[in-house]
Amino acid sequence: SLPIVAVVGRPNVGKSTFVNRIAHADDAIVHEMRGVTRDRSYHNADWRGVHFTLIDTGGIEMGDDDAFQSSIRDQAFMAADEADVILFMVDGKTGITADDEEVARVLRKVDTPVFLLVNKMDNPSKMEENWEFYSLGLGDPRSISSTHGHGTGDLLDEVVAIL
Ligand code: GDP
Ligand code: MG
Repeated sequence: SLPIVAVVGRPNVGKSTFVNRIAHADDAIVHEMRGVTRDRSYHNADWRGVHFTLIDTGGIEMGDDDAFQSSIRDQAFMAADEADVILFMVDGKTGITADDEEVARVLRKVDTPVFLLVNKMDNPSKMEENWEFYSLGLGDPRSISSTHGHGTGDLLDEVVAIL
């Protein structure tokens, strides 16, 4: 079976936009399970001849803060269990939130390799301005723009190199 790359992160950071840019069109297999936390869609993707399965993790349940944070943790643990590489996406426009920190806390402990993606860095001349995200403790932040495509090729080069 193909190597698995899972995209995780809080709602609205741009996970689905990224996946739809990278994945082959109209081939998603959506696994709808009880509780939206567990929803994920599986996509065929390849980069430079390396084929892999790309997982878009679905909505995280909104509710009281405790339920929300625990479903965020579940999502990260499930991805770590299932994936060969995790892409943890944050929003470069809004900066770090408490929910980002919660996911990071989980991902710092897993053995699965994690890339920290700073999305919505739409201005190519300001791609380097992502220093604040070093504080998440997950190595070098990789700036990308999922809508424009900046940075996604370099990132995928690094990802497929370790698949
Ligand atoms: P998800 O909830 O993490 O799957 O996020 P979506 O992919 O649904 O995107 C949430 C919103 O962010 C949408 O309005 C997207 O158009 C927007 N978005 C996604 N990627 C980018 C980006 O690179 N730049 C900007 N400016 N907006 C983006
Ligand atoms: Mg989505």
